[in-house]
Amino acid sequence: MTTRVWDYLKEYDSEREDILDAVTTVLESGQLVLGQSVTGFENEFAAYHGVPHCTGVDNGTNAIKLALEALDVGPGDEVITVSNTAAPTVVAIVGAGATPVFVDVREDDFLMDTDQVEAAITPRTKVLLPVHLYGQCVDMAPLERLAERHGLKILEDCAQSHGARHHGRIAGSMGDAAAFSFYPTKVLGAYGDGGAVITSSDEVQKAMRQLRYYGMEKVYYVVRSPGHNSRLDEVQAEILRRKLTRLDAYLEGRQAVARRYEEQLGDVTGEGGLLLPSVNEGNTHAFYVYVVRHPRREEIIEALKQFDIALNISYPWPVHTMSGFAYLGHGEGSLPVTERLAKEIFSLPMYPSLPQDTQEKVVSALRDVLAGF
Ligand SMILES: *Cc1c(COP(=O)(O)O)cnc(C)c1O
Repeated sequence: MTTRVWDYLKEYDSEREDILDAVTTVLESGQLVLGQSVTGFENEFAAYHGVPHCTGVDNGTNAIKLALEALDVGPGDEVITVSNTAAPTVVAIVGAGATPVFVDVREDDFLMDTDQVEAAITPRTKVLLPVHLYGQCVDMAPLERLAERHGLKILEDCAQSHGARHHGRIAGSMGDAAAFSFYPTKVLGAYGDGGAVITSSDEVQKAMRQLRYYGMEKVYYVVRSPGHNSRLDEVQAEILRRKLTRLDAYLEGRQAVARRYEEQLGDVTGEGGLLLPSVNEGNTHAFYVYVVRHPRREEIIEALKQFDIALNISYPWPVHTMSGFAYLGHGEGSLPVTERLAKEIFSLPMYPSLPQDTQEKVVSALRDVLAGF
């Protein structure tokens, strides 16, 4: 069987009873939409992050879009983010009617270069949107200083960073709001689509509740400002409740896989060759994906196919170079680090239930290929 970067079937094998019980519990509860599973998950997910509020929504893209709208972002406003991210980050900004503005990422950790943010701020800037990419948190202190000085809000894109930590704080608890995805591949994944927004602001929470429910102030009440239908599904919420109790174990599993890669590949890394992920001081990495770098990436990916190993790239096309975002005017060459990385990065298999022998097979194949260069 082909070795892939992600696979949920092993996890399902070991959690089957609990997952099926979650499904049955909802189907037998008599309430299929916004019932006790969504409420229960919202309370438990907020508590996990030490914040008072959570609103479950239908996916991570809409979590970002609705959170921006709850932060009063709309047409004419600018949101500063990165191009080295999943396209939905940017799709959501456009979906809220705002204009995405990109800064480059750093050469060492591939995260938002916070030194470039101030120069990107204009009178129209409303929100700074750091993406805690691959499972590692962006440096928040410089962003917090800029937000304070320029009267901006911070929205954390936590779609890849469930449970990641930054100087003792948990991802999602640091901004004015944070958006999560529970797409199946994510560190906390549903068995379908799901998302959530957490916040400490009563005002943002009130807006989120309305925005996900057509814009109604109360159930079957009045729409003052039209919203969306973006509810988290009750079955997915019950599955997520069960899986949330295992999130810390998933994180430990991912960190163990990362440690083994370091142990088994550390001696073949080096400048101009293979580079493994760097973890910044004060960060606990959630290792959503295990992104490595090599100038001869295409050859490596081709060669590993001979070993029946299929690798992924997160992400091969920087968002600002996609034709759908050409109108933003960030042309090719405008974000040199992002563009260079996109040609050299690739991901090794990473998920908590990745069998050790599968990982060893990947390591030994990769070592073989590198030895041939
Ligand atoms: C997955 C992801 C999203 C979108 O989440 P969906 O649930 O797929 O809509 C947004 N931002 C980032 C960084 C992601 O990885």
